[in-house]
Amino acid sequence: MSDEADCVFCRIAAGQIPSMKILEDGQSIAFLDINPLAEGHVLLIPKDHFETLDEMSPDLVAAVTAHLPLLVAAVTRVAGAEGCNVLQNNGRASGQAVPHVHFHVIPRRSGDALGYRWPAGSYATGRAEQVHAALKQAVGGPM
Ligand code: 5GP
Ligand code: ZN
Repeated sequence: MSDEADCVFCRIAAGQIPSMKILEDGQSIAFLDINPLAEGHVLLIPKDHFETLDEMSPDLVAAVTAHLPLLVAAVTRVAGAEGCNVLQNNGRASGQAVPHVHFHVIPRRSGDALGYRWPAGSYATGRAEQVHAALKQAVGGPM
């Protein structure tokens, strides 16, 4: 059985299992997360199956994420929140449970229980320059 046939979000996109849709166009759907981190937690997905963001074309990412400004405004206002997180996990190690690209839009209030401050590190002497060079090379950027 293919990834797509197994995939819960492909099945939502195909209308094979129900979802509470917020918006839909030719390439994207947004719907309520079934187990919200806060009321109004929405997921935005491409209709086609891609496991992680790097598998998508830049044009398709642009088309799907074009919905984010409206969703951020709607989720924040309707949830009566003060802000929201947009979160997109790639791979199990990052916390991705459903292997079909999705953007979380999560309403937030100051003092809520969710938290967001991950422990920040620092570079040993010379290490930032090595990482910088490797990343520039990886994206074909200016040398
Ligand atoms: P991840 O951990 O992969 O970034 O997030 C997956 C999200 O998908 C979770 O927040 C989970 O509640 C949501 N989810 C999983 N299965 C379903 C489903 O069948 N319907 C809906 N609406 N959301 C789902
Ligand atoms: Zn899928």
